[in-house]
Amino acid sequence: MKIYIFLFFSLLVILIHSNSYSQDMVNKTQFIEQIFQKYDAYKEGNLKHRRFKHADLQPLIEKLKQTNAANTSFTVSSLGKSFEGRNISLVSLGTGKTKILLWSQMHGDEATATMAMFDVFNFFSKSDEFDALKKDLLSKVTLYCIPMLNPDGAEVWKRRTSHDIDMNRDALRLQSPEAIILKRVRDSLNADFGFNLHDQSILYTVGNTPKPATISFLAPAYNYAKDINDIRGRAMKVIAELTETIQKIMPDQVAKYSDDFEPRAFGDNIQKWGTSVILIESGGYANDPEKQYIRKINFIALMTGFYSMANQSYEQYTLDQYNAIPFNERLLKNLIIRNLNVVKNKKTYKADIAYLYNEVNINGYKDFYYKNSIDEIGDLSIFYSYKEIDCEGMTAEEGKVYPQKLGELEEIKKLNMSDLYKEGYTSVQLEKSKLTDDFTNLGINILLKTNKIDKKIEMGKNPDIVIRQNGKVRYVVINGFVYDVAKGESGIKNALIYK
Ligand SMILES: [Zn+2]
Repeated sequence: MKIYIFLFFSLLVILIHSNSYSQDMVNKTQFIEQIFQKYDAYKEGNLKHRRFKHADLQPLIEKLKQTNAANTSFTVSSLGKSFEGRNISLVSLGTGKTKILLWSQMHGDEATATMAMFDVFNFFSKSDEFDALKKDLLSKVTLYCIPMLNPDGAEVWKRRTSHDIDMNRDALRLQSPEAIILKRVRDSLNADFGFNLHDQSILYTVGNTPKPATISFLAPAYNYAKDINDIRGRAMKVIAELTETIQKIMPDQVAKYSDDFEPRAFGDNIQKWGTSVILIESGGYANDPEKQYIRKINFIALMTGFYSMANQSYEQYTLDQYNAIPFNERLLKNLIIRNLNVVKNKKTYKADIAYLYNEVNINGYKDFYYKNSIDEIGDLSIFYSYKEIDCEGMTAEEGKVYPQKLGELEEIKKLNMSDLYKEGYTSVQLEKSKLTDDFTNLGINILLKTNKIDKKIEMGKNPDIVIRQNGKVRYVVINGFVYDVAKGESGIKNALIYK
């Protein structure tokens, strides 16, 4: 009899527990779905593209000081200055005992998560139907956020600090003021969780699938043996939960960053020092060059993380779920032209040709144009691409220069590009122009007093390629962008001006 009573009560406990657990899950699922739908209400409108600067963030941080939202107040403090003297701020909110430290943009040209961080601030400062939930979250956790840890790098859109140190290799030697700041904050807070927020190459795929690794997670290793202690294990469970959430929104575009131990990196060391570290790497997503959709996914990942850490829902997840996330592979290209017949020395061979796109900074590092080049030639059947064309049975030839020399830019605007492409012309010569720009949005390369342009299909070069099918021009490729002559569709972001 005793045993039956015991079993009965055990069952009761399990039922109550599983009921509250599933109730939690439903709430979380609904909450995440709703904030995903409502995201535009939280999106910080002053941050529209990746190349914002330290100065652009200061008014937003100032505004937080004044914000006395129903749910929370923000505390802003100065952590010190970057090498070039830019103030690095810590924004904190909440009163809960679980401490979460977030730092973004320790690499100056990795800005996606900084944008998401300001979306998070807006979420907590606005009053809406989630007020009770916000209050509950912030009674359980305290968020400590460092947006843009490397403002000097961001200023000139580069990875490294002003003195060209990669601060993610400076966690031990601590020679950059920015690294000293991060170490000091970590040690003074001894936070339970840390979000290490980066951007990775857009060329990463989810394992060897064609899908871009739009988000890659990692619970960094704290030794070469890649051991798993409670600290790292907890980060792995959180990541399993984040992955499940993101997969529902954006299937098959979540991967895992390489877990090789890097003894000089912050993520690895902070894990070692006792804070469960979650690395988020924002990768690529088709037709999202400014990473605004990826920013939204970051927002969702962070909110899911806060929810999980506040309610320990990560405890319901396993290391196996973490281990099942595929690793990053680097199998993407920006453009692949497949099965093209290329003629060289009167011999014809078949080749796939891949281009990589390269951004060149302009306007005080606030904008960019593309200057692209061939990255690979040959059998590229194992690679995937954001854009590809199959040129089976088609033949490549060099783009030609329009025979009539023109005077000024205005005269180019009068030309019908489509007609020029059909004739195989991919560049025009300007005689009088004193253009200082290095690129044009007119869809055709411009030559100023030079004819020194890449003509050959060779590694590292950027030739214009005219592709013919049955004698007729089918595609032209200018600066690694495709114009589909048959469909009249232009994918040309910009052409180049050669001087
Ligand atoms: Zn990075």
